[in-house]
Amino acid sequence: MSFRIRKEDRVLILTGNAKDKGKTGKVLRVSPSQEKAIVENVNFITQHKRTRDPSKPGGRVTREAPVPLSKLMLICPKCNRPTRVGAKVFEDGSKVRICKKCNAEI
Ligand SMILES: [Zn+2]
Repeated sequence: MSFRIRKEDRVLILTGNAKDKGKTGKVLRVSPSQEKAIVENVNFITQHKRTRDPSKPGGRVTREAPVPLSKLMLICPKCNRPTRVGAKVFEDGSKVRICKKCNAEI
């Protein structure tokens, strides 16, 4: 699964909250074990930060929350369309990703 989406990819958000659906963004980080990715400017959550030190104000921090990979679709850099990803395996076992729309190696 983690093969399909990588860091630096551009992805389309398929589902999620109304605000993010249909958005595109750059993948900042992928967590293969969780099958989630952090996408730039997508799925912001607000965290309330508490501090023990009364002289420092606690605050609200917004940051991107991970999005399940199943909700992301890769945008092919060649044809610029959201696409499914195929894999091409070479004789030496190395793999490249293939855009199923235009068959370009990604
Ligand atoms: Zn393509």
